[in-house]
Amino acid sequence: MVKVSDVLNSIKKSKISDADIEATCKICHATQQLTETILTTDQDDTIYLCKNGCGPIVKVEKQEIGYSLMVIGHLSYER
Ligand SMILES: [Zn+2]
Repeated sequence: MVKVSDVLNSIKKSKISDADIEATCKICHATQQLTETILTTDQDDTIYLCKNGCGPIVKVEKQEIGYSLMVIGHLSYER
């Protein structure tokens, strides 16, 4: 399973983990660490669902080369 932090680290050459990233749900506006979200997978994609069950906040989608992030809510993190 490829995590959001894996994708960010590969782009930014950083060493953050999912616990360092806060996600805000666009439906209930709850802010949560990515480690608090509900993780699920769809084939090679990783989907982070709001802890309150609203739906996806961010997805990691497998591309032909590498992975991309599809952010539905809002992500914030410190380097
Ligand atoms: Zn929510």
